[in-house]
Amino acid sequence: MTASDLTHVTADGRRVVVAAALERRGRLLAARRTRPASVAGRWELPGGKVEPGEDPAAALVRELREELAVDTAVVGRVSGPRDGDWPLDATSVLRVLRVRIERGDPDPHPAVAHDEVRWLSPREIASVDWLDADIAPAAAAAARLDTWVDFPSGAVEGEGVVTVVSPRADGRVAVVVDRTPFHPLDHGWPDQEGDTGLLAGRPVLDSLTGALDDAGRLLVDGEVDVRRGDPGRTWTVAHLLDAAHAPAVGDVVALSVDAARRTSLSRGHSACHLAALALNQATARFWSKEPPRRDSRGFPFLDQIAIQVSRIRPDAAYDAYRCGKSLRKAGFDAAAFLAERAVVADEANDLLAGWVARGAVSRIDTGGDPTLTAHRQWFCDVPGGPAVIPCGGTHVTDVALLGAVRVDYLPTAEGFEVLTTVG
Ligand SMILES: [Zn+2]
Repeated sequence: MTASDLTHVTADGRRVVVAAALERRGRLLAARRTRPASVAGRWELPGGKVEPGEDPAAALVRELREELAVDTAVVGRVSGPRDGDWPLDATSVLRVLRVRIERGDPDPHPAVAHDEVRWLSPREIASVDWLDADIAPAAAAAARLDTWVDFPSGAVEGEGVVTVVSPRADGRVAVVVDRTPFHPLDHGWPDQEGDTGLLAGRPVLDSLTGALDDAGRLLVDGEVDVRRGDPGRTWTVAHLLDAAHAPAVGDVVALSVDAARRTSLSRGHSACHLAALALNQATARFWSKEPPRRDSRGFPFLDQIAIQVSRIRPDAAYDAYRCGKSLRKAGFDAAAFLAERAVVADEANDLLAGWVARGAVSRIDTGGDPTLTAHRQWFCDVPGGPAVIPCGGTHVTDVALLGAVRVDYLPTAEGFEVLTTVG
């Protein structure tokens, strides 16, 4: 940010008008003007003039409070072609800032300046009659919406519009689309491997988490410099292809996940969660105090309290746990558990066998948020109370489909590890 970003005029003396790219759950807010008569009935990104001496970001927050009765925070910018701004006329520019709602919910029929607001999905952007000056900024703002993902419902096929094609140093290219069925490796908690498959008939070699910044850079996996879901970035799935197979921005491409590999990973992931529940239940007797956390079925949440690493593999999972001083202080007797680990594993395997034999619906709840960084939870209606575990991965639809799940507990220098196998 430069000094001229902080006043009501640009370095070359043009008046700054601010507008909001207001995103929620992968949708962009559009507002219909009621005045002046020359623009009434047309749609815009809400905002207004920056007053002399006023910081543009503060001006936008003020305008949104006045016009839409919401408290907002500015999290970035949708960069335009003129020093980051969008030309309006000879004397003014439009500055489009990315904004999140902190409090409130815009009335669908506001009374000040607008008479209707709509939340538009990426493919609905062209469905309203934008003011001429807002057409290009709205399209650019739409390209900054978080990617919509269909893998939580189990989808393996889809169609996407290419929004970013970013060459990589390794001769590959990272391709971002507005909507995809591909599940990417999470950069912060890399438990489930990314999907492979086809994009426009070309092999997708891997899928990773991508974060797009205001300068248009796509940071991929280890390059991502912020926490998952940071609103300053646009969160995407980076489909990695050989550079020779790069599509063009704007292409509509068919997406097809390798279904057999996905199924094996889903089986591994569901088994991993069942193994965690069985671990919690079978080790409950080694707690001497009220544990720091209990799972949704009421057992001490040893899995979440002690887990260090989780790796989901085709039809298998590996989890490593740490049993340090803090776990002992919390009341867990790891030494007693490890001494009896074969018996405890038998108890866990009996639980697992019962759950799989009975069957239980297994699904991901997105909370209605279709984007990559939604707070998703795995629900599984196992006996003794449903399991609810935060989860970004994919799962089988019914645990009966696993056939059999077995765990083995092995001591390590740090604590112990759990090897889970399916089938
Ligand atoms: Zn999970």
